[in-house]
Amino acid sequence: MQNFDFFRKMRYNIGMKHDIIIIGGGASGMLCALTLVQNGIEDVVLVERGERLGKKLSATGNGQGNITNQNLSVAHYFSDDIKKVERIIKGFDNHALLDFFKSLGGMFEADEKGRVYPTSRQASSLTDLLRFALERAGVRVQTGFTAVKISRQADGFSLTSQEGAALKGKTVVLATGGKAAKNFGTDGTGYLLAKSLGHTLTPLYPALVQLKTQTAHIKGLKGIRCEGLLRAYDGAKELTHARGDVIFTDYGVSGNAVFWASSYLTDAKNPSVSLEFLPDVSKDELLKLLSQKAKFCAEEQIFVGIVNNQLGRAILKRLHLENGKFSLEGAVKLLKSFTLPVTGTLGFDYAQVTKGGVPMSELNECLMSKKCKNLYLCGEIINVDGECGGYNLQWAFSSGVCVANAIIAERKGGRGHD
Ligand SMILES: Cc1cc2nc3c(=O)[nH]c(=O)nc-3n(C[C@H](O)[C@H](O)[C@H](O)COP(=O)(O)OP(=O)(O)OC[C@H]3O[C@@H](n4cnc5c(N)ncnc54)[C@H](O)[C@@H]3O)c2cc1C
Repeated sequence: MQNFDFFRKMRYNIGMKHDIIIIGGGASGMLCALTLVQNGIEDVVLVERGERLGKKLSATGNGQGNITNQNLSVAHYFSDDIKKVERIIKGFDNHALLDFFKSLGGMFEADEKGRVYPTSRQASSLTDLLRFALERAGVRVQTGFTAVKISRQADGFSLTSQEGAALKGKTVVLATGGKAAKNFGTDGTGYLLAKSLGHTLTPLYPALVQLKTQTAHIKGLKGIRCEGLLRAYDGAKELTHARGDVIFTDYGVSGNAVFWASSYLTDAKNPSVSLEFLPDVSKDELLKLLSQKAKFCAEEQIFVGIVNNQLGRAILKRLHLENGKFSLEGAVKLLKSFTLPVTGTLGFDYAQVTKGGVPMSELNECLMSKKCKNLYLCGEIINVDGECGGYNLQWAFSSGVCVANAIIAERKGGRGHD
């Protein structure tokens, strides 16, 4: 539980209307709240259903916190209004984000793929930097508050929690995330709140998620990890390709390259993935190498020292199944393109993000609702998702700051934003 002082105050303040209520203490909600208070907006209440803030943020990047990417560009995002995404990200880009976290006391480093992490390599330290700053800034936090009902009133909003508490606010920010990984508090209730205020939703899909594939050719490979090039197809059409790790499982494939590909496969009618195990060696080179090896070793030993032994056995088995016999050309073909039809995903519970959400077309340039005045949305609840590599946290933070800046401008009598 956080901020007992606030709880004490809250009891006395039931019925009092707050200036701004932010629903959802995740990445976007925390940064939105902090930016508001740091810029002189005093009466900000951040409500979070969990017992603590930033539970998901603390688990990101395999616990290491891949906060953004040096190669940030809108090309890494999906949305119904990519131009708006671009403006919002440019308004608070990767440099601004890192400068901000450095101002809170963090240090950062990037890997060879441009993925940026705190030097602590602890995602929880990102949450801590924000949490401590929120405390210092005096943001009022109420944990254990699951917003289940929101209604529009003449001069603001009335909010009811599952736990029986009530709050009133002039302005509300929906920062509840999507419906991916519900064990972190994101079960999609935010969508119901948005819908109750007049919003619609685009179709929702799990993204950055493990893929289920036909398993006949990967039996016995569970747990084997390889670095390679993964291509995603719809029928014969290549949708994307990515280099990275692929991990075989009993249901299909996992790993960063797979997460990447999953974002492109949601609409595919005839989805498949194809693994290239040795992307830096040409077909001709491979054929030459295997031909030389075939002179002194048996067929069963042909892949030893080239790929993982179990993988080699699986390739050999597939070669016999599909061609009826061993051939060097067939072996090279499978090393270059080990295709697996995709039969599904592990679903929202295992996904890192939700593809789809409240359409951008229902929000103005500052992410204020066009359906309901003084309602703002930020983060994953909006129809924006990014590729694997730090792009989703960047969006959460950029959009949180965008909303905060819009409210600050409006409160200070600056530009209007209808
Ligand atoms: C395992 C995992 C690893 C990831 N790794 C990365 C990574 O390395 N890099 C990256 O860029 N992205 C990563 N992501 C994605 C990234 O974490 C999200 O896109 C991002 O956190 C979304 O921010 P948000 O503020 O919109 O929502 P969230 O961070 O999901 O926060 C929403 C908050 O709202 C609360 N909430 C929901 N409904 C209610 C309600 N009705 N009332 C009160 N509170 C409510 C939730 O409890 C939650 O705390 C990862 C996701 C997962 C699941």
